[in-house]
Amino acid sequence: MSRFWSAVTHQLTPYVPGEQPQHQRLIKLNTNESPFDPAPGVMQAIAETPAELLRRYPDPESVVLRSAIAERMGLAVDQVFVGNGSDEVLGHIFQGLLNHSLPLLLPEISYSFYPVWASLYGIDIEPLALAEDFSINVEDYARPNGGIILPNPNAPTGILLPLADIRRLLDMNPDSVVVIDEAYIDFGGQSAAALVPEYDNLLVVHTLSKSRSLAGLRVGYALGQAPLIDGLNRVKNSFNSYPLDVLAQRGALASIEDEAWFQQCCEQVIANREMLRGQLQERGFEVLPSSANFLFVRHPERSALTIFNGLREQGVIVRHFNTPPIDQFLRISIGSHEDCLALLEALDSL
Ligand SMILES: *Cc1c(COP(=O)(O)O)cnc(C)c1O
Repeated sequence: MSRFWSAVTHQLTPYVPGEQPQHQRLIKLNTNESPFDPAPGVMQAIAETPAELLRRYPDPESVVLRSAIAERMGLAVDQVFVGNGSDEVLGHIFQGLLNHSLPLLLPEISYSFYPVWASLYGIDIEPLALAEDFSINVEDYARPNGGIILPNPNAPTGILLPLADIRRLLDMNPDSVVVIDEAYIDFGGQSAAALVPEYDNLLVVHTLSKSRSLAGLRVGYALGQAPLIDGLNRVKNSFNSYPLDVLAQRGALASIEDEAWFQQCCEQVIANREMLRGQLQERGFEVLPSSANFLFVRHPERSALTIFNGLREQGVIVRHFNTPPIDQFLRISIGSHEDCLALLEALDSL
């Protein structure tokens, strides 16, 4: 607390990111990072960056990267917006496209950063409860609103909404921006990006942090029709004209260009997830059906906090959200095969 803080700063409740231990040797299954290296071309592109390019400002429009993303997604370059991680892209979306007089609709259990941006920008939100089985019922979103945002698959449940439901949501809300945050779509879902040419109210957000093993590079993007992307550019160019540095633009481009590496990493994560799911179920855990790179689990007899602390003592960190109705769940990121086995061993010894 300081007398120099503005009124806004006083009333903020900032997002708390998962722990990033800097020193200990831990098995880190708490922030949904990839256990695999990024595509080899990424490291090469970064290492071979000419000094000249660091001396200059980067391309403020990231045209080469945006073109590569557009081509891969079957869209036009003016339908792609890039930012310093999808968190920054989402921040701009909240400020530029979701700040209206009617409340923003979002699932009560979803990415816990959403309410933080809403509060930062003074946006009213109307959180909607999930169904008993923790799924999202899209019919609940047929009510007056100033916008809709949801992760698909949802976080931290991992539950996927089929594309037909996303289409329903868009059809029911032709006058609202509908934001689908697809941070985990590559682990078994079908992207709503294919619907962009059909719907002028759709924005799809992707990140290179999870399925492309580049959380440290900070690159995310939004896909939508040009007028929505223009709106985001207006916000971006009023905040930071150069959100992606030279290394991020080059590294991200190399990642997008290596489709085979990307596919192989996703397949391996899915295989590990299914193995771990079976093993946890054998140990009595309830495991929500996940289409993501994590499992959301609870044990009928052991408290989540007890398991969390027990794992922590053995050097395995997972994520626990201390808020009902999910306070008895743990979110476990899918690590390498060895990470998964180490987790199971630690559980067995508890
Ligand atoms: C991880 C995550 C993000 C943020 O990703 P970055 O691109 O690393 O900022 C956004 N939304 C959801 C749902 C996430 O899980």
